[in-house]
Amino acid sequence: MKQTMDRPRVAVHKFSSCDGCQLSLVNLGEDLLTLASRVEIAHFAEAGYLAEEGEEAEIDLALVEGSISTPHELERIQTIREHSQLLITIGACATSGGLQALRNLDDARDEWMSAIYARPDLIETLKHATPISEHVKVDFELHGCPINTGQLLAALKSLLAGVAPRIEHEPVCL
Ligand code: SF4
Repeated sequence: MKQTMDRPRVAVHKFSSCDGCQLSLVNLGEDLLTLASRVEIAHFAEAGYLAEEGEEAEIDLALVEGSISTPHELERIQTIREHSQLLITIGACATSGGLQALRNLDDARDEWMSAIYARPDLIETLKHATPISEHVKVDFELHGCPINTGQLLAALKSLLAGVAPRIEHEPVCL
């Protein structure tokens, strides 16, 4: 990214996930207020912001939580990517498939669905749960379960200043 963004439009999108990474954002407290004064939060359903154009809203920076697990999610991520200048994946679900990708190790998906759901025939899923980067171009990835909000803020600060974020290599537990 070459230029400083002037009050960029930011969207937060959820795919298959537990919402924990989005909650980390909501729990930023005062830092969230500071962030909201620097960017326009165009879409963040968990925090009550809904863009009129939905996922077709033109966005400068999209933050994406969760893995791709259903045919509908596959369509959604393509739409979001088409309308987002930059796309950052947040958390283990989005960057590596997360816990739900354990099903990729076993062909017993249909057996598990019948054991868990009363009407498995109503559920549409893909055979595998996969990271976002398997389907669309991702500009930056933030790992962790959940993400480290300090790392997220540092990455956002860099992007707002027009420079590439520093890639953190330390594990979250450090
Ligand atoms: Fe939840 Fe962890 Fe997935 Fe974040 S990475 S959405 S905290 S399961």
